[in-house]
Amino acid sequence: MDYRKKFVVQPGAKVHLAKIDPSYTGEHETHAKAVPDIEKHRERMDKLQYLLYADGQQSLLVVLQALDAAGKDGTIRHVFSGVNPQGTSVIGFKQPSPSEAAHDFLWRVHQHTPGKGEIVIFNRSHYEDVLVVRVHKLVPKSVWSKRYDLINDFEGMLAANGTRVLKFYLHISPEEQLSRFAQRLDDPSRRWKISESDYSERKLWPAYVEAYEDALASTSKKNAPWYIIPSNHKWFRNLAVSQIIADTMDEMSLKLPPTRVDLADIRRKYHAAVRAGVKAKRAPSAKHG
Ligand code: ATP
Ligand code: MG
Repeated sequence: MDYRKKFVVQPGAKVHLAKIDPSYTGEHETHAKAVPDIEKHRERMDKLQYLLYADGQQSLLVVLQALDAAGKDGTIRHVFSGVNPQGTSVIGFKQPSPSEAAHDFLWRVHQHTPGKGEIVIFNRSHYEDVLVVRVHKLVPKSVWSKRYDLINDFEGMLAANGTRVLKFYLHISPEEQLSRFAQRLDDPSRRWKISESDYSERKLWPAYVEAYEDALASTSKKNAPWYIIPSNHKWFRNLAVSQIIADTMDEMSLKLPPTRVDLADIRRKYHAAVRAGVKAKRAPSAKHG
């Protein structure tokens, strides 16, 4: 199954989240059956990240957006567990600091976009400025409504500079969210995550759905697509996200840079003596053997 085709938000298409089943697991049915594929995609990502780094011409920006407990952290932990930390970083975006808030909304984001050869994962992103900001009316509509175009221009500029932008919305149901909150209550190692606001935000679920639907529909572009990932099953979420990332990187024509030296010359100049030594050492033992 090609999850890029299945889950992409077609540029210009309307989005109805209610029509998308957050419990979808496709052909895999169970976690156990999906494990070999999850592993395969993780290994592909590891190899491709090595090429991205060596090639040094392009970069990858992965944006993760979701409501609380949908699994942004878990996705990062699982999907990127195979890649080399050198050349990969994660940036989280919380409430803006006073200095961030004193600038335009893209100011704090732009300085963290990936340089050539790098992968950067955004745990929340500039999309908060058309999501939480819209839902909580932190700025008037006249301000946030202009941001979709500004985001498209910004991401288009990144794409023109060699950055692939991939955006994932992790789609869960309100029931699944409540059950994950309940699990946190029962698990002493995760109680620190509980906040009253996670519960109060649930009342705003319909407003968030509306804001997400507009954001996904207005900013999914060919060179910066959104994918809506059914995420009630964590293993399916990991499978779909890792496949989409690996397939995208496969298409980036990543290649090892050409060798910069004359290999024969290097062998002769620096390794010939060692080899001769090895041969000389081997020779007597061969006689005895
Ligand atoms: P966790 O899984 O640990 O809860 P989190 O990403 O939800 O991770 P929190 O510290 O709980 O982290 O929440 C960060 C908060 O910052 C979120 O409620 C998010 O909506 C908010 N936030 C992020 N960007 C902005 C922004 N530009 N304006 C206002 N609020 C923002
Ligand atoms: Mg939170």
